[in-house]
Amino acid sequence: MQERPPSTVTILGIPNDDGSSYLRGAAQAPDVIRQAFRSPSSNTCCETGLDLDAEPRLLDAGDLEFDVDLAPFDQIETTVGELLDGGSRVLTLGGDHAIAYPILKAYGQRYERLSLLQLDAHPDLYDELDGNYLSHACPFARIMEEGLVARLVQIGIRTLNPHQSMQAERFGVEIIEMRDWDPTTVPEFEAPLYLSLDLDVLDPAFAPGVSHHEPGGLSVREVIRVIQDLNVPLVGADLVELNPTRDPSGVTAMVAAKLFKEIAAKMLEG
Ligand code: MN
Ligand code: MN
Repeated sequence: MQERPPSTVTILGIPNDDGSSYLRGAAQAPDVIRQAFRSPSSNTCCETGLDLDAEPRLLDAGDLEFDVDLAPFDQIETTVGELLDGGSRVLTLGGDHAIAYPILKAYGQRYERLSLLQLDAHPDLYDELDGNYLSHACPFARIMEEGLVARLVQIGIRTLNPHQSMQAERFGVEIIEMRDWDPTTVPEFEAPLYLSLDLDVLDPAFAPGVSHHEPGGLSVREVIRVIQDLNVPLVGADLVELNPTRDPSGVTAMVAAKLFKEIAAKMLEG
């Protein structure tokens, strides 16, 4: 295993919300994020001025087209793995957060000592939820059990219960709870680093178009600041849990497109 050359970044839509425990809808997100990115109400530049629409290193593989005869998570793992083997880093647009498990399976087999930064209202460390061990409440338990990453840091957490606290301790997860959040102290990482961004890390005042409204979260500017200030490049990222059925004004889609641009820019730095 070795690191891929820092050449291209490929966008991959994953229209899958099979793991959603409360509401469906996140499967509609990839197209909605692309439309918001191209909305004439804004432009396609990130905040450094880099125009992503004119960036030859940023490719779009479209959406994963699921074969109904195959297990969806196997197809996610295979497709992401093929892109990585082709020398590209991958920026996936979810989908719900359950897809992080097969994505990190592909990454974990190719990157040694991977660090994982999760921005989320929820730790997603349940052993199982409603009998489903592939629920979007569980992916980081699976990732840690299988040793797919060397380090997991979570920011924005504000829903810890006794079971998930126990799981976090068991797996050695570094949790920066929202009640302890200090925007001036973003942790430092060693490369390679992967970012998993659940939009419900944001306060629902900024991003109502998610399935789980959890008040007391981060502002859009704080999340942008975390992305821009990361001390190492990103080898991969996912942007998950936009639920367009709860976003009639489209404001959360614009937030997702904004974060997509800043993540892509950060990935292209490396
Ligand atoms: Mn999540
Ligand atoms: Mn969440």
